[in-house]
Amino acid sequence: MRAVLSRPKLVDQIAPKIKPKSRTHPKRPAIHKLEIVSILLRVSAEVAGKIDCTKCANCCKEMGPRLSKRDVGTISQFLGFTPEMVVSKYLKERKDKAGEYLASKIPCPFLKKNRCSIYKVRPKGCKSYPHIKNAESILRLVDIAGKSSICPIIAGVMDQLKAEISNTLRSPQK
Ligand code: SF4
Ligand code: SF4
Repeated sequence: MRAVLSRPKLVDQIAPKIKPKSRTHPKRPAIHKLEIVSILLRVSAEVAGKIDCTKCANCCKEMGPRLSKRDVGTISQFLGFTPEMVVSKYLKERKDKAGEYLASKIPCPFLKKNRCSIYKVRPKGCKSYPHIKNAESILRLVDIAGKSSICPIIAGVMDQLKAEISNTLRSPQK
């Protein structure tokens, strides 16, 4: 599901969103959240670079996509179907969110031989998975951490991040 992680100037985007004195814990030595973001970006690129998503596809097997009407339109054009045909063949409307869709079954019906059969037009959420590529997502990482039992990239990032943050906390403060 993953696209290759790049290292754009995310730190510059994130910096203004972080309060200058924010700490990981009020009683612990200061470590600026921006330091954690920097570590996270570097570790994410390192971990993702070692994992071949085409041999995993766990996110497609375990969670499947969330689709907007626009996603459905794009996929229907790609497949040469009408949007209604795509919905009836592959999807179901979300009960809790009108106008959004989920796969009708899991594993995702677009997954064929461990590859996404609509890769070029896959939904926005699939493109950005595992959601560690933009400022908002990084700041929501705590929520994503709950998925580490499914996604080996997330699990690897969490492990390494934890180790590196605790090393930083043990280092003398400048
Ligand atoms: S679960 Fe993670 S590692 Fe596996 S295919 Fe999805 S993004 Fe890649
Ligand atoms: S649409 Fe493609 S990338 Fe998204 S869950 Fe299905 S198979 Fe995976």
